[in-house]
Amino acid sequence: MRAAILSIGDELLLGEVVDTNAAAIAAGIYALGIHLPLQMTVGDNVHDIVNACRLLAARVEAVVVTGGLGPTVDDVTAMAAAELAGMPLEANPEALAHLRAFAERVAVTLHPANEKQALLPAGAGIIANPVGTACGFSLIHAGCRFFFLPGVPAEMAVMLQGTVLPALAASGMLKSLRTKVFKVSGISEAELGVMLQGVTEGEEVSIAYCVDFPEIQVKVRTEADDEKTAEAMIAAAGGRIRDILGDRIVAEDADTIDTVVAGLFRTRGFTLALAESCTGGLIAKRITDLAGSSAYFLQGFVTYSNLAKIELLRVPGKLLEEKGAVSAEVAIAMARGARERAGSDLALAVTGIAGPDGGTAEKPVGTVFMAVADKNDCRVRRFQFHGDRAQIRLVTSFAALNWLRRELLPKP
Ligand code: ATP
Repeated sequence: MRAAILSIGDELLLGEVVDTNAAAIAAGIYALGIHLPLQMTVGDNVHDIVNACRLLAARVEAVVVTGGLGPTVDDVTAMAAAELAGMPLEANPEALAHLRAFAERVAVTLHPANEKQALLPAGAGIIANPVGTACGFSLIHAGCRFFFLPGVPAEMAVMLQGTVLPALAASGMLKSLRTKVFKVSGISEAELGVMLQGVTEGEEVSIAYCVDFPEIQVKVRTEADDEKTAEAMIAAAGGRIRDILGDRIVAEDADTIDTVVAGLFRTRGFTLALAESCTGGLIAKRITDLAGSSAYFLQGFVTYSNLAKIELLRVPGKLLEEKGAVSAEVAIAMARGARERAGSDLALAVTGIAGPDGGTAEKPVGTVFMAVADKNDCRVRRFQFHGDRAQIRLVTSFAALNWLRRELLPKP
């Protein structure tokens, strides 16, 4: 089965309101196993609404429409639906009773203009609205089933869940769909595309790439007539992709790099300390955002000034003077200092230039030194990140977590 979404409202066209209804409807419909080949948005105009409905009816078997069911003159959806169906608008007794009962329940006086909301195309089926004045309605045109819902998101959501989705689910025209998400880092979108080229050729499996800075999400979707087949198809395709991408995959599905790192700390039983300069505590925030992090996170030092690095982490003043605060040597001294002070198994330190000022030819904005110390040694790396201050800090925190992830992965 294929379905479409039609959003109605001048404010949507002008960008004054973001179309969250379409996103919510799409998620609900897709989860049922229904294809969504297209969405449309039109203004509060009868002619445009009718034309859009005709166009959609030629392409899909069901359309969910939202908006324009209110009491004001710009709310013309019922009028357009009547024209589409070739039926007159008439006072619907059920909708009128609902309007009056709702007004009584919430103790408001019904304005005569509200009664316009009970004027529906003759023969339309009512869709109950438990949380607002405007009833929705459904009708069939050219073999396509239309569901008309109010634009107010809370009302739309209740009616979608309560009536529209169950009606679509009962249609018996559903497929079993599965989606698997791989969150990937350390590779460009173009390289990723080349690596995965042809991996699902000849199968009912699609791959989509979606940049979610600083990672890239690879979304693998399968479709089959039954759940078991869809599950087997996604497992097979996912396994092949996992083999190709290896540890470039930082997380899968609902997991994030943060939850993966948390899981590794818990299972490996290591403890952590952080020494942060340019990230100003962002890495510690990401770690402590997750409940249970006290089991492995001992201490974070935000050592922004040289004095703080000297006093809190015992970084030698001479080293700071000779090498500069943003240097491999200082990153190593920070990591060792943090580890010693906190008594942790691991310590990670970052020092860099987040910008927009402070860059030099030798160390431009985005230069970051990161070090990880354990009881045996201390490893250091130089990174060159790009972007504005917020992006550099974000990608630095991501790279730090990714280093910890690699550090904690069981060695083959
Ligand atoms: P009413 O006029 O009774 O409020 P309605 O069915 O006529 O309801 P609209 O007037 O189209 O709905 O929209 C009411 C409000 O709901 C809008 O001002 C807007 O804030 C919000 N809204 C409408 N459509 C959407 C949408 N597609 N996504 C998110 N919000 C929306």
